[in-house]
Amino acid sequence: MIGITSYGAYIPRLRLDRMAIFQAMGWFAPAIMMVAQGERSMCNWDEDSITMAVAASRDCLNGMDKGSLDALYLASTTLPFADRQNAGIVSAALNLREDFITADYTASQKAATTALITAFESVLSGERKNILVTASDRRETKTAYFYEMWFGDGAGSLMVGDTDVIAEYKGSYSLSADFVDHYRGADKKYDYVWEERWTRDAGYGTFIPQAINGLFDKLGITMDDVDKLVYPCFFKGDHRKIAGELGADPEKLVDNMHEVCGETGVAHSFLMFISALEKAKPGDRILMCGFGQGANALYFEITENIAKLSEHQGVAGSLANKKSVDNYLKWLKFRDLIKTEMGIRAEAPTQTATTVLWRKNKMIMGLVGGQCRECGTPQFPKSDICVNPNCGAFYSQDDYEFSDVPAKVKTFTADLLAVSVDPPAIYGMVQFEGGGRMMADFADCELDDIYVGLPVSMEFKCKSFDKERGFVNYFWKAVPVPGAAEAKDAVRFDDRVAIVTGAGAGLGRAYALELAKRGARVVVNDLGGARDGSGDGSAAAADQVVDEIKQLGGEAVANYDNVATPEGGQRIVQSALDAFGRVDILINNAGILRDKSFLKMEPDNWKTVMDVHLNGAYHVTRPAMAAMKENGYGRIVMTTSAAGLYGNFGQTNYSAAKMALVGLMNTLKLEGKKNNIKVNTVAPIAASRLTEDVMPPDLFEKSKPEFVVPMVMHLCSEGCQESGSIFNSGMGYFNRVAVFTGPATQLGDPENPPTPEQVHANWKKINSLEGAKQMEDANAAIFALIMPPAEDSASGETSADSGGSVQAVFDGMLDGFKAEAAAEVDVVFQFSISGQGGGDWYCIIKNGTCSIDQGLHDKPACTIKMTAADFLAMMSGKLPAMPAFTSGKLQIAGDVMKSQLLEKLFKIG
Ligand code: NAD
Repeated sequence: MIGITSYGAYIPRLRLDRMAIFQAMGWFAPAIMMVAQGERSMCNWDEDSITMAVAASRDCLNGMDKGSLDALYLASTTLPFADRQNAGIVSAALNLREDFITADYTASQKAATTALITAFESVLSGERKNILVTASDRRETKTAYFYEMWFGDGAGSLMVGDTDVIAEYKGSYSLSADFVDHYRGADKKYDYVWEERWTRDAGYGTFIPQAINGLFDKLGITMDDVDKLVYPCFFKGDHRKIAGELGADPEKLVDNMHEVCGETGVAHSFLMFISALEKAKPGDRILMCGFGQGANALYFEITENIAKLSEHQGVAGSLANKKSVDNYLKWLKFRDLIKTEMGIRAEAPTQTATTVLWRKNKMIMGLVGGQCRECGTPQFPKSDICVNPNCGAFYSQDDYEFSDVPAKVKTFTADLLAVSVDPPAIYGMVQFEGGGRMMADFADCELDDIYVGLPVSMEFKCKSFDKERGFVNYFWKAVPVPGAAEAKDAVRFDDRVAIVTGAGAGLGRAYALELAKRGARVVVNDLGGARDGSGDGSAAAADQVVDEIKQLGGEAVANYDNVATPEGGQRIVQSALDAFGRVDILINNAGILRDKSFLKMEPDNWKTVMDVHLNGAYHVTRPAMAAMKENGYGRIVMTTSAAGLYGNFGQTNYSAAKMALVGLMNTLKLEGKKNNIKVNTVAPIAASRLTEDVMPPDLFEKSKPEFVVPMVMHLCSEGCQESGSIFNSGMGYFNRVAVFTGPATQLGDPENPPTPEQVHANWKKINSLEGAKQMEDANAAIFALIMPPAEDSASGETSADSGGSVQAVFDGMLDGFKAEAAAEVDVVFQFSISGQGGGDWYCIIKNGTCSIDQGLHDKPACTIKMTAADFLAMMSGKLPAMPAFTSGKLQIAGDVMKSQLLEKLFKIG
């Protein structure tokens, strides 16, 4: 049996919103609105038909033995070289063997299906066994044109062979005709296109049915023998009409991908076919047709092997990995449709010495480095001496392919001065898994995406263009692995060990499950007692949650100890240390209720509630904090309640215990600080057995514990830098609760204590919370009480508005001035801050001195324009200057270079 044995696809990540084309050019070509739905795929500035072909081929070769390939055919009408074999470039990038055939199939939109039929015939003849057929196109069109809307960029690859066939080849039928619906002269950049009506009727509408009917006759089949019908036609209506005329039900027709990608030229039949393969089941029959100066029709039947095929990005994966672009000017620049000044640096000679390219062919085109035979160390580039200082062997390097080795970002920088089509140029060091590192350009990403440790893959891209000589230089660049940049902000607990008390039910169970889902190893503690804490308890509650975690693939152990005793607390922590060797997270959650109005509150009910909530938190936190201190890391969450924070009738014991936990947090926050132990408190509102008779029924329904979980996960995370704060959380609503202290009023004098009458007379002032502030600790509060208000700011308190004011930033700027860095500096910065609290300030720096005044300076070296909010974020270190500048939040007029001195001259953050 011969047929397709693998497939691969590449659709560029960038997708141009068609409305952006219309919005920019609709004034000139209003009719393009008719096809302005969805988005078209768009090559990045460093992608072309070759780079896309390499990407699709790599996807196709994933899990295959590339040494078994004995031919590579490349089909495209947009090949960068008219006389240098383009398939040879793809082959070099794939680092394929040299003793085989490479061929370019071109000059017609049906070149891909022609290459595919040729490949089948070659394998059928027994001459060759495995042939990779890749089709790729990046078609150029003029601006504000229907074809700019219709077309997209992309590549598809199909492997032809006789082993592990996933789609058996049953036969083909071809038609060739000198039908010229469009053409491109040998010296022209753009197609010349004849009237669309004629293309539709005499072209697609004639050749495709003829080829399909010809195939039916040849194979003795009918449309009933076809489950999926693939043919390109970017006229959406006509695409459907042809199927109707062929007698095919609409559901047989494979979508022409107009909304999601656009027509990818030669590659399009392949991409539509691959999207059908991705959904196909054994036994399905697919008919594929290619169109262009006639048509080719091919017929396939899916085999059982389709289920065994290894993972491929394919069309679905490519479409999912996208970044929408609504900046039409960017499209024009990337497509070289506008002339921009690239600066003198861009004029540096770009001639490629083909002698060097040949000598270093494997290194440049195939990213082949070396691996030491003696010690196994990989290195790039290959060299005569092993880089391993403990080895240093001579001439010990075997070829080592880095292109498929997973890598991570080790360092990176963004360079606004380097020549780039899409500044800033981002580059840095990548570290390969298993050893080896190299300096690489980063492609297909924004500066905000990059972080140290970001997983990247190496991808074949255009490096530079020698327009004078018509040469494209290719090399490998680092591209973030899809989804990895977004994962940077994901809250994860990998390698963390968490203890959740009372985790057998309600909120605790929800916390434990989520922690485990996000990578934590969890101690699920629960006594399994009654709602009021009575009874002997049962292991069932904790065991059940542990089972749930294990079923999700997580790690957890159960603990049944009582938090209300010191021994119980000790054993809970010990079970974490025994099972997982450390403690990073503790959620003090176990709780009971024994409600009674105060006069009926017997000591037993008072004490039992205190024992579980307050003493329980003490018993577990103490040994847990000792373990956290060992690692210099910890996150502790206390559980308070609205009853404690605000009061609730009949819950004096519970209110007192819950508010006492806030006191415990207030001091632990200080004691844990130097060991990076953050302590916060949640006040949940959630449906559980504790609240089933307390909450109104409709509220109970809406209050799933899962709505509290996100806050607690944040408070448990490494990213949480908050400590000593309380948060109400329920039903997806969150707010902060805090103790605020009003400004002090001084009465009497040191010799004469004030009288009650004076307090009475000043009651309004004393009782006022106007200008109230949150205090860092008791000392700060005492300080604030006894210090005159003007000196408040030195007392260590936190402003209620932690953002501060623009005026305050300028007032404090002199304190952060680094005189030693300003020895030879002579510069005037003008600040123009818009929005609330904004205004104009200027700063004169001369001979190591600095002065700051409000107003406008006559001759500033540069003017910095920002909104007040962005300025405050930048000056507090939350918004780094470079992203602020590249995103337009920071605008600089005048000498931009001088503005870079700001970070050197002032302490920011
Ligand atoms: P829940 O009764 O569903 O869960 C509490 C768990 O703690 C139970 O599984 C129980 O067996 C366990 N437990 C009780 N005493 C224990 C002990 N001595 N040792 C070990 N485990 C023990 O209640 P919930 O609503 O999920 O409450 C969780 C926490 O949230 C409690 O501290 C509660 O006071 C607090 N809280 C809940 C709400 C709410 O709206 N649900 C509101 C405010 C505060």
